[in-house]
Amino acid sequence: MYDSHNHLQDNRFDGIRDKVIEEMRASGIIKCVINGTCPDDWKKVTALAHQYPDFIIPSFGLHPWREITHDWEQKIIHWLNLFPNACIGECGIDHRIKKYDIELQQQVFLAQLRLATERNLPLSIHCVNGWGCLVELMESNPLPARGFLLHCYGGSKELVPRLKKLGAYFSFNGYFLHEKKHKIREAFASVPPERLLLETDAPNMYPPTKATSYYLVNGASHPANLPAVHRQVSKFLDTKKTSENFHTFFLQRD
Ligand SMILES: [Zn+2]
Repeated sequence: MYDSHNHLQDNRFDGIRDKVIEEMRASGIIKCVINGTCPDDWKKVTALAHQYPDFIIPSFGLHPWREITHDWEQKIIHWLNLFPNACIGECGIDHRIKKYDIELQQQVFLAQLRLATERNLPLSIHCVNGWGCLVELMESNPLPARGFLLHCYGGSKELVPRLKKLGAYFSFNGYFLHEKKHKIREAFASVPPERLLLETDAPNMYPPTKATSYYLVNGASHPANLPAVHRQVSKFLDTKKTSENFHTFFLQRD
């Protein structure tokens, strides 16, 4: 089993990270993708990628909530050049929080989309309240040949075929197992099995107790719950291809 999207570099894991990784492995997780969200984060992601080369796939992105520094692009290129197995993300479009400059947010996203396309790298996209904008951008720009990942997909059921046509993979998060998230579970029912992935986004996004076997004292979401999430998801989605999809999308390189 593979965790397509988490944030093991997050300081909520400080002091317990090695134990958490041990528990992930013991629970049956083979590899995971760690998403840095800003330049300070990227350094932490690289340290972990060096420490656990067989387990961690590093991903570098400038998240729409993060500060846009003048040299972010130069720095991301530096890290991408050093890690041939790296991915780009987490990046994306977020219209929920009004204080951001939407125009600038789009430019930063497009710069990362361009990098992923030029290098054909796996791209992990965050999108909140900006689906119209994201689809428009994806339909009017060159895209990575391998496709792209809509992490924690929260768009409508109707958008799934349009996004699929563009090359999208959709990752299901354990949080969607909460009773109230029935609409998104319905949207996932129209995701083809060959485009489905699983993720934790840990330490964020809690699965309900029925899919929780590991708890952390600091209240963070434990990524080793993924197999428990998988067991629940398999009751209503065809998850047989999720490991193969992980290989195709993240591990097959040019
Ligand atoms: Zn994330």
